[in-house]
Amino acid sequence: MRDENCIFCKIANGEIPSSTVYEDDDFRVILDLGPASKGHSLILPKNHYRDICESDKAVSEKLFPLAARIGKAMKAGLGANGFNVVQNNGTCAGQTVFHLHVHVIPRYEGGPAMVAWEPGKTDPEELSQTAKKLKGAME
Ligand code: 5GP
Ligand code: ZN
Repeated sequence: MRDENCIFCKIANGEIPSSTVYEDDDFRVILDLGPASKGHSLILPKNHYRDICESDKAVSEKLFPLAARIGKAMKAGLGANGFNVVQNNGTCAGQTVFHLHVHVIPRYEGGPAMVAWEPGKTDPEELSQTAKKLKGAME
């Protein structure tokens, strides 16, 4: 399952060189070329999926445990104090490369704020309506 026009397919399968942190049969983990912080890594499945909705369940199930391993290595090997796990789906969510990938971003004490948002406002009625809509749309 490859897309010949996809740069992450080429990187994940070793056709284009990358700074590889980890590799197994299903994934390659590389350093991001435009890092948000030192060690910013991308988990790339070797198969092509546009986003998490298209992904195989077996692949998706492995993503979080692998992100945890990478995050632990960031703490042990780079002195990170924490890390963010970020995964963008769709242009409006900030996705720019349409091959499923998970960002693991090390965070250092005193480093810049990122992956943050201003808390909005809501009320119990709106929460109830929204929960109802979501519940009804779940597959
Ligand atoms: P997205 O915005 O789609 O969630 O994230 C795409 C990420 O891929 C960005 O952080 C960007 O810096 C990174 N990126 C794009 N092209 C390349 C590349 O050719 N090599 C590497 N290592 N990272 C890339
Ligand atoms: Zn791809």
